[in-house]
Amino acid sequence: MKPMLNCVEATRLMSEALERELALGETLPLRFHVMMCAGCRNFRDQMGALRRIARAYAQGQDERAAAATGGETPSAPR
Ligand SMILES: [Zn+2]
Repeated sequence: MKPMLNCVEATRLMSEALERELALGETLPLRFHVMMCAGCRNFRDQMGALRRIARAYAQGQDERAAAATGGETPSAPR
C-alpha cells in the first residue's frame, strides 16, 4: 500500500466504496487525501448527490424531487 494516493486512485476508491466495503488500508489514505485535496472533496460531494438520486430512483420515488435542492421547480412529466 502506498502512503499517498493520487487523485485518480482516490476517485476510483470513492467509486468502489459504493459497491464494496473498503479496507482500512484504503479508507485511511483516502480520507487523508480528501482532506488535503479540494478537487476530490468536490468529487465526493457530487458523488453523494448522484447516489441520493440513484437511491430515490431505485425506490420508485421521483428522482427529480430527490435532486431538487431548492430553486429549480421540476417540470411536468412528459
Ligand atoms: Zn485529489
